[in-house]
Amino acid sequence: MADPRGFLRYRDRELPARRPVPLRLMDWREVYEAREQGTLDVVSRQAGRCMNCGIPFCHQGCPLGNLIPEWNDLVYREDWREASERLHATNNFPEFTGRACPAPCESSCVLGINQPPVTIKNIELSIVERAFEEGWLDPVEPTRQTGRSVAVVGSGPAGLAAAQQLTRAGHSVVVLERDDRLGGLMRYGIPEFKLEKRFVDRRLQQMRAEGTRFRAGIDVGGTGEGALSVEELRSRFDAVVLATGASAPRELAVPGREATGIHPAMEYLTQANRLVEGDWIEDPLSAEGKDVVIIGGGDTGADCLGTALRQGARSVTTLAIGTQPPLARDERQPWPTHPILFEVSTAHEEGGDRSYLASTTGFEVDAEERSAGSRSHAPASSTVRECPPPTPRRCCPPRSC
Ligand SMILES: Cc1cc2nc3c(=O)[nH]c(=O)nc-3n(C[C@H](O)[C@H](O)[C@H](O)COP(=O)(O)OP(=O)(O)OC[C@H]3O[C@@H](n4cnc5c(N)ncnc54)[C@H](O)[C@@H]3O)c2cc1C
Ligand code: SF4
Repeated sequence: MADPRGFLRYRDRELPARRPVPLRLMDWREVYEAREQGTLDVVSRQAGRCMNCGIPFCHQGCPLGNLIPEWNDLVYREDWREASERLHATNNFPEFTGRACPAPCESSCVLGINQPPVTIKNIELSIVERAFEEGWLDPVEPTRQTGRSVAVVGSGPAGLAAAQQLTRAGHSVVVLERDDRLGGLMRYGIPEFKLEKRFVDRRLQQMRAEGTRFRAGIDVGGTGEGALSVEELRSRFDAVVLATGASAPRELAVPGREATGIHPAMEYLTQANRLVEGDWIEDPLSAEGKDVVIIGGGDTGADCLGTALRQGARSVTTLAIGTQPPLARDERQPWPTHPILFEVSTAHEEGGDRSYLASTTGFEVDAEERSAGSRSHAPASSTVRECPPPTPRRCCPPRSC
């Protein structure tokens, strides 16, 4: 334990500053200010709050089993290089989890019993970004070749992590991806303002240098263009890893669903991400000037909210089926469980309204709009709170929901 009194001297969580809302609504860049040298001192101080618990419950929370107290200690001692080694021992891509993971490690941090938990996620991100800046993350080439070949189907984080491990173990690895670009939902699901795609490309560059090969536009088991049969795959490779994810949307089978202007989040977010990449899409889905209703109050809904606000939506209302969660843990969700709390994500800071206990039972559709093929929204039949006054594009002040 680096600083036995750290958690007594510093009781507050210190996190990176976010860019002002009006500014960040004008672009797609990450919402956080650029990381500067001075901010590393803050990160070391936060790492010094870690108690190096005898039973570190942060381990219980982290699905990867990250060695959190070990790299907290190293960061406190400013041994960033060794911290990066310990971090990468269990996590192939901390720059993705450090940005996008919901951080169950923090919910289960022992410090959270009576004060705010250690800022584990931000420490993780700071370590890996420092490692990239310093050039410590060189390609790791295998020491021997096994002569075996492996096909990894799917280039999302699961496929990429499997491919990296297999390549480093000396196998000849090819990643086959159905889409035109690599990265799975990190590329076409999560919006740029949460995870800039240059970070995905940066890691792909390292993987290519290590020897992993990538083939985009290959649809394993498909029938159309780029199709590759499973039989062919099996005959060409010694082993196959399936990491195809779960990109099929969950349908909302209610009357009126077939009307125009109602889209699954993945269709909307994929197009929005493609537009940010500079792709040409004829008649793209856009929220510009529209009153948008998002059905579903989770993280994907928040991604749609941030995207719609950046596209210039007139208003955005999110309908959540459950009750409004509490602001703090209640007794039914004691430490160290991951509590369901009223979350104000960066997108919620930017605008929009939320309605709770809103169960959608159908869509009422203007017949003329439908025949005209308009993309304007179909109002839900459930009771919806009135939208606030129109949010002017590019100058919306933060609003508490
Ligand atoms: C909108 C959205 C936002 C999210 N935000 C977050 C977040 O902030 N934090 C978080 O932790 N998680 C988030 N998630 C969840 C996270 O993205 C997924 O858990 C993660 O991407 C799953 O990784 P994966 O590699 O298993 O699958 P995927 O990322 O889905 O990748 C699977 C890949 O396989 C390809 N594929 C499928 N079938 C074939 C085939 N037959 N042939 C070739 N290729 C194929 C697909 O095209 C895809 O590229 C989000 C999900 C969504 C939808
Ligand atoms: S539970 Fe919290 S305080 Fe304890 S070791 Fe993990 S990060 Fe440190």
